[in-house]
Amino acid sequence: DLFTASCFDESYIRNFKMNTFFFFFCRMIGKVAVVTGGARGIGAATAKLFAENGAYVVIADILDEAGTMLANSIGARYIHCDVAKESDVESAIQLAITWKGKLDILFSNAGIGGTASSITSLDMEQVKHLVSINLLGNVHAIKHAARAMLRCNTKGSIICTSSSAGIMGGLASHPYSLSKAGIVGLMRTAACELGVHGIRVNCISPHGVPTDMLISGYRMFRGNETTPEEVKKLVSDQGSLLRGKAATVEDVAQAAVFLASDDTGFITAHNLVIDGGYTSAISSLS
Ligand code: NAD
Repeated sequence: DLFTASCFDESYIRNFKMNTFFFFFCRMIGKVAVVTGGARGIGAATAKLFAENGAYVVIADILDEAGTMLANSIGARYIHCDVAKESDVESAIQLAITWKGKLDILFSNAGIGGTASSITSLDMEQVKHLVSINLLGNVHAIKHAARAMLRCNTKGSIICTSSSAGIMGGLASHPYSLSKAGIVGLMRTAACELGVHGIRVNCISPHGVPTDMLISGYRMFRGNETTPEEVKKLVSDQGSLLRGKAATVEDVAQAAVFLASDDTGFITAHNLVIDGGYTSAISSLS
């Protein structure tokens, strides 16, 4: 205190505090964002953090009750949207345009987990169902978000949720892994085309976040009696190099805000892995 009092006058300190506040909490003021799969889990935490940072958020999901409740609590809008249906996704993007006249950010995050099965006995209807949501859902979302951004001339940021399972084998079911690897390829080609218009396209790849999806995944392999606490303990014990810590939905949401904000204006075609080092150092984990 003595140091600051002697070196800086009061208005400097006031400005510093204000700038720090705006830097950390208001990085998306006036931005308009659509979040698919925003009713719960990673999407819900991100929708919340976008709103806390000053963005107008449209939550697009199939969980109408949870989505509406969240939207009401953060001043967002909710729309029923099954990302496997192109017309639903188009309507979600259109809602942002009708509401605020532009689209700055797409967080294309909706996804489902797969059913474990040998490659030799895959049920092709299940594969197609998963791909229609996890992969084609992203195609629909990028297509219509890019159209809207081009029409409104916004230098937007598109972020898709891939996964550590898109990088490594053996972490999840075959269709899930193929869908998540496909998202990274799609993100790169979209980034190549849209970069010339100033639109950035990136992925985030989380790993081991104890959400409903991960808990269901563990139950599939370990039995239905597996509790959320056990899943949390398993991922904190073995899920990263940062032993004793499980990833949180907020950890992932912070990464999405980072890529959505203008702070990352020169980052595109990037896959930001949020895994506590897991995919880089599997051999040191037991
Ligand atoms: P979650 O199940 O809590 O959330 C998924 C959300 O997507 C839900 O709100 C759900 O209703 C919505 N959704 C599902 N199908 C939809 C559809 N057809 N149309 C629109 N919305 C739909 O799980 P989560 O862990 O928060 O998953 C979010 C994303 O993160 C997913 O893409 C998932 O694959 C990915 N991911 C999660 C983890 C993890 O460890 N939890 C790791 C890597 C990647």
